[in-house]
Amino acid sequence: MTEINPNGRPHAYGFDTRAVHAGQRPDPYTGARAVPIFQTTSYVFEDTDSAAAYFNLQEYGNTYSRIMNPTVAAFEERIGNLEGGAGGVAFASGLAGQAAALFTMLQPGDHVVASSALYGGSVTQLKHLLRKLSVELTFVDPDDLSLWEGAIRPTTKALFGETIGNPGGNVLDVEPIARLGHDHGIPLVIDNTFATPYLCRPIEWGADIVIHSATKFLGGHGTSLGGVVVEAGTFDWSNGRFPVVADPSPAYHGLAFHETFGMYGYLMKLRAESLRDLGGAMSPFNAFLLLLGVETLPIRMDRHVANAEDIARFLVCHPMVERVRYAGLEDSSYYPLKEKYLPRGAGAVFSFDIRGGRAAGTALIERLQLWSHLANVGDAKSLIIHPASTTHRQLGDEELRAAGITAGTIRLSVGLETLDDLIWDLERGFRAARAAGGTNEEAAAAAGRTVEGVETEPQVLR
Ligand SMILES: *Cc1c(COP(=O)(O)O)cnc(C)c1O
Repeated sequence: MTEINPNGRPHAYGFDTRAVHAGQRPDPYTGARAVPIFQTTSYVFEDTDSAAAYFNLQEYGNTYSRIMNPTVAAFEERIGNLEGGAGGVAFASGLAGQAAALFTMLQPGDHVVASSALYGGSVTQLKHLLRKLSVELTFVDPDDLSLWEGAIRPTTKALFGETIGNPGGNVLDVEPIARLGHDHGIPLVIDNTFATPYLCRPIEWGADIVIHSATKFLGGHGTSLGGVVVEAGTFDWSNGRFPVVADPSPAYHGLAFHETFGMYGYLMKLRAESLRDLGGAMSPFNAFLLLLGVETLPIRMDRHVANAEDIARFLVCHPMVERVRYAGLEDSSYYPLKEKYLPRGAGAVFSFDIRGGRAAGTALIERLQLWSHLANVGDAKSLIIHPASTTHRQLGDEELRAAGITAGTIRLSVGLETLDDLIWDLERGFRAARAAGGTNEEAAAAAGRTVEGVETEPQVLR
């Protein structure tokens, strides 16, 4: 979104303006200011020639809502714009988008290198779905660049990581990993769900593809599933490593997507083939609800971060808490990376380990009233979960360890409520956890400890 000033100089709109306006102008037929919900499966063609041109991808036009829809298009363009990409393609969920994004670039015999600190659903998708397709996978400790490098093979087609890992709160060092990928002609794919484009735009650091579960902070209201895949448009898919993207496609009457559409080639293939064939399209109504969420993304994220930082400081000083893993704390080993990639804050999802392990964790969660015990993040409401018994329960002990989870790990998604109320509720939960037994001595012993390098804010300690 750029307008030209009378003096000929461009005026580029700021992020907050684009969060409200990008991808939409008032509807030309009705003047509707909000994005209309085009709840239609299909579109009447003007004539047979234009119908043929649409199907041949010679002209861009609506044919069927599995492939494109005007309400969904406004959402796609808005996120593509906010991430600084060439465009976006929306999906029914984050995992639908991730599967399609990978399908588009992979073929049997290929290999993917991924961070071991991923969302649980992504771990299972990468491990099991890709294996069924004869694609091999190597998980690496995301913090060690030499492991990423050592894992690359001649058949490697993607490096995959999350801006902020789940639930360990690792911040990915995107820039050198992107450079490593590019040195080998391999794209870097980043799941930016936890950061959102407001806190971090991975494309600015060299990432080639950015994936979101829009279900989380982008929507922000916990009502609608959705996903979106954004591409920077700068990766050279014709570098010899990606015949599946560059060569004439048997699934689209011999069209060579990268040669024909240039910087939009990957996204066109993602839409015209992968979305068409896998079918996980976003519904127009969900696109409408998610767009409403995106309008307030900047102000919501500021509040999410402020509440999360204060709650992290409260937990650090609490005798029932063994450790807090939040990159926004000055003594976090990820703090320097947070300062580089996430200057506005490390997001609002992080975890801590409670003293007393599983029993204490269960007692805490069951006592809470304001915090909802459920498997989601990025809602306006504060959420809490015990990963080892829920989101990550499919993982073996080794994988749990690799993902940085113990029996006492509790994950928070800090919402927008009044801070005092959130802390009041947690404090009641901790009292119940202490009463759950076996942990009194440990907690008392810990009560006198000091936490080095962390400034406590007295107003949040009560
Ligand atoms: C939720 C989530 C996903 C999956 O998204 P869905 O919309 O639930 O399919 C992927 N990655 C991360 C980081 C998530 O939090």
